[in-house]
Amino acid sequence: MKKIKRRDFIKAGSLVGGSTLIFGCGQDQPGDAPAVRTRQNFQWNLVTTWPPHFPVMGEGVDKLAEWVDLMSDGRLKITVYGGGELVPALETFDAVSQGIAEMGHGAAYYWAGKIPAAQFFTAVPFGMNAQQMNSWLYSGGGLQLWEELYAPFNLVPMPAGNTGMQMGGWFNKKINSPNDLKGLKMRIPGLGARVIEKAGGSPILTAGGEIYTNLERGVIDATEWIGPYHDYLMGFHRIAKHYYYPGWQEPGPVLELTVNKQAWESLPKDLQMIIRAAADRSNILMLAEFESKNNAYLKKLKYEEKTIIEKFPNSVLSALQQHAQEVVEEMTENDAQAKKIYTSFDKFRQDVGDWAKISEKMYFDFEEI
Ligand code: CA
Repeated sequence: MKKIKRRDFIKAGSLVGGSTLIFGCGQDQPGDAPAVRTRQNFQWNLVTTWPPHFPVMGEGVDKLAEWVDLMSDGRLKITVYGGGELVPALETFDAVSQGIAEMGHGAAYYWAGKIPAAQFFTAVPFGMNAQQMNSWLYSGGGLQLWEELYAPFNLVPMPAGNTGMQMGGWFNKKINSPNDLKGLKMRIPGLGARVIEKAGGSPILTAGGEIYTNLERGVIDATEWIGPYHDYLMGFHRIAKHYYYPGWQEPGPVLELTVNKQAWESLPKDLQMIIRAAADRSNILMLAEFESKNNAYLKKLKYEEKTIIEKFPNSVLSALQQHAQEVVEEMTENDAQAKKIYTSFDKFRQDVGDWAKISEKMYFDFEEI
């Protein structure tokens, strides 16, 4: 695949044209100078970490581009590229940072190798759920910390989607105690992988397209993916016996929209606000889609496919939680920026958790959902 070079992008130009509109030629106000506003049109590229039109995430980004077009009356047109179409999926961050594309959509934890602290802006094992993450980002100072973290990379980040609570994953054997995690070969990314390692397992990195075959052939014993909807589409129920919950590794992963800083600053204020509004709308819509589709596909798995859906024993969850704490402590001890972000994240998690205990937890427990 031919990669687009920065100079080609600059040559193509992101500002595709302008025309001058004259407003306010009030005939009843003779002598007033007409207000002149130059209408600038922008043609931007948006690269994603998702396969083209991928259910919910890819589809959501397609909608975001449509909304921006409509809200801006065609002044900002965005062409969406799936992973690999313009740049490889995992080069989304660099492509936007360098201006090869003006925007990117993905998840911050994909950039953990470059910025470990980015993981706090997607998901932390036993961290916060979608509602709590939104609360931390929008109302608890989280977004400001995220902006500070990405500023040296020439990027403006914002939340633009959330998968909601994930599932614990598919296992080819029963998990009865923490001992059953020892020697377990599991496909699991991010901090969750470090947790499985501490529990005595072997996390294995497998590209999305290879997970099914690896699980079928026994290269891996287990995999987590997303939730009932996407997991069903992957067909894991045909080859793994046990489907475990809860998704301790990703309780409410945030999806991100990144904008190249110079491109962002080249926009008039109203177009900037239109992008923020479209990102917020994506944040709501993607979570809503996950919630409704996961519940429909959970039923399909349960009643049509007869999948065995099981809860991890508390002893397993307690051990994983302990390991998660160790993983985060190790990660932040020599990284001042990660420590600063984690301190904010953890304080918010504790405070919001105290509230959740007497609000939603009590409600769900009472309802016996
Ligand atoms: Ca996952």
